[in-house]
Amino acid sequence: MFDLQLTRTTRDLLAEIKEWSIKEVRPHARAAEDLAHPPAVNEVVAKCPVRHCPLDFRYIGPAVRGREDDVEYVKSLNGGGSLLGVLAMEEMNVGDGWGWQALPGNNLGERAVRLLGDDYQVHRWADGILRGDYKITSICMTEEHCGLDLSQIRTTAVQEGDEWVLNGAKRFISHGAYADYLVVFAQTRPGSGLAGVRAFIVEPTDEGFFVDKYSEDKLGVRYYPNSTLRFDNIRLPKNRVLANNNFGEFMAILNGTRPFCAAIGLGTAKGMLEYAVDWVNQHDKPFSPRRRQAFDEQVEIMTAALDRVRRMLMRSAWKHDQDEADPMLAHKAKAYALPILEDVSFRSMQLMGPAAWSTEHLMEKWYRDAKFNDIVEGTGNMHRIFVAREEFGN
Ligand SMILES: Cc1cc2nc3c(=O)[nH]c(=O)nc-3n(C[C@H](O)[C@H](O)[C@H](O)COP(=O)(O)OP(=O)(O)OC[C@H]3O[C@@H](n4cnc5c(N)ncnc54)[C@H](O)[C@@H]3O)c2cc1C
Repeated sequence: MFDLQLTRTTRDLLAEIKEWSIKEVRPHARAAEDLAHPPAVNEVVAKCPVRHCPLDFRYIGPAVRGREDDVEYVKSLNGGGSLLGVLAMEEMNVGDGWGWQALPGNNLGERAVRLLGDDYQVHRWADGILRGDYKITSICMTEEHCGLDLSQIRTTAVQEGDEWVLNGAKRFISHGAYADYLVVFAQTRPGSGLAGVRAFIVEPTDEGFFVDKYSEDKLGVRYYPNSTLRFDNIRLPKNRVLANNNFGEFMAILNGTRPFCAAIGLGTAKGMLEYAVDWVNQHDKPFSPRRRQAFDEQVEIMTAALDRVRRMLMRSAWKHDQDEADPMLAHKAKAYALPILEDVSFRSMQLMGPAAWSTEHLMEKWYRDAKFNDIVEGTGNMHRIFVAREEFGN
């Protein structure tokens, strides 16, 4: 039975993660955005209560620093996998988003290898993250003309003897310019759509790998780069093509992580609301009783909205932990949570008035960051179309 009650140890761990995000991550938020790379990153990461990005908890366990082998402690955490992961992700984003992005396993390359790789590939590349052999990985789906619809990609891989020859380009790739390895989706049988798409591991030292543009100049989440990459006749040994070519499994990578996108948005919106409430409480002396009452009503409505989103995400993650992952719940989380979170971000700005617009506070930055979650991993529009097709059958 789906139970919303969290154990004491779970709540304590989540509180520690939130404190880390506010006390250690937030002070570097502006510098991280200005430099497209946070300073003091290693010291901040070393203080995080968990050693690994929560995206992967469902495969590797909660990775609580210093408690990895404490079986009783791990058992006392709710879920321990995806459910704990989305809750941890929410708290990690309350202070600012760059912190979780700096943790090992922060991106989807490792996830792709874990889901699509054979034993050797998982041991070398996915488990390599746990051993410290690799840290930052990227997944490369999006091209200049298409993203979500992999059947349209133009990057090709042609088999020549024991090797694959990769040609093409990708855009908007998170961390692509300095990833330790990248999982690149390519067409192996042009004209055959999804049936010909396979995923390949590319290392930055492979001859023919080029970073054409370090980063997009972008609205928000400027603390890491989105790169444009080129693959020019890269010759890959056969152990670099991921074993599984099942499209459903490809999509499972994203179905599993979409609720996490919403959890990032949830943490950002909660951080904004709490920041605005603190600010108002420190500056409310001149407020009329009417303004104060209106303020309290707004906060109540927004808190309830955040709680609604949290329940939606917990349900989706819980199903995942029961091995009953429901792609429709993942689509719904992405489709319906983000508009609520955008609304909360927008209204939290209003609570502070013009102060929220000033770079003196981080509110304007978080407002710019918030939109990203609605675009990445398939836009909200597309997920609403998928949900409508499922509900109405057309
Ligand atoms: C910050 C950031 C980080 C990213 N990181 C990565 C990364 O690491 N790796 C990667 O591969 N990609 C990455 N992306 C790209 C991103 O995942 C995709 O751009 C996103 O999923 C949108 O998909 P798309 O490009 O296919 O959208 P588009 O196809 O351009 O869709 C845009 C809009 O067109 C409409 N539309 C499109 N198709 C249809 C249709 N069939 N029917 C009706 N309407 C339609 C919808 O309204 C949709 O919202 C990143 C993007 C951002 C902004």
